Amino acid sequence: MTNSYLSPKLEVRAAPEKGGFAVYAREALAREELLCVWTGRIVSQAQLPGLTEAEKSHTIQVDEEMFLAPFSLDEEPADFVNHSCQPNAGIRGQVSLVAMRAIAPGEEITFDYAMADSTPYDEFTCSCGAPMCRGRVSAEDWQRPELWQRYEGYFSSYLQRRIDRLNRGAQ
Ligand SMILES: [Zn+2]
Repeated sequence: MTNSYLSPKLEVRAAPEKGGFAVYAREALAREELLCVWTGRIVSQAQLPGLTEAEKSHTIQVDEEMFLAPFSLDEEPADFVNHSCQPNAGIRGQVSLVAMRAIAPGEEITFDYAMADSTPYDEFTCSCGAPMCRGRVSAEDWQRPELWQRYEGYFSSYLQRRIDRLNRGAQ
């Protein structure tokens, strides 16, 4: 059963080198095109430690101390979008993913977890292979000013509010 939305122009394929699955473009996608809308159950920060590691790896932060966890670990295609330090997709609102640029058929769809996460529940050594790979994905990455510029308009709403406050404070 699928609860989330995944654009029919996308498909999930096995990607053993990435430790599981990945989402790829079957057709060309335009900049700003909607790629997926995630769903799941809302988990508070206090409940977060109760999730399994597998559940945590498919969880995304959606607000201050609020997280969207999978209903179950059944196949939910939209949950298989991987991280990249040089992504082609970004967050719109809290639970939607859009193309940051035109995407060609065959390209893997990725976003930067720094666009959404600011809590250390899913930090990892990154091997995304991008020339600008940070080497490690951590809960503090959203604080990097170079990412504020690169991902302007593509941070989760709650992080964009934090960034706007920091920018105002710096003036
Ligand atoms: Zn990386």
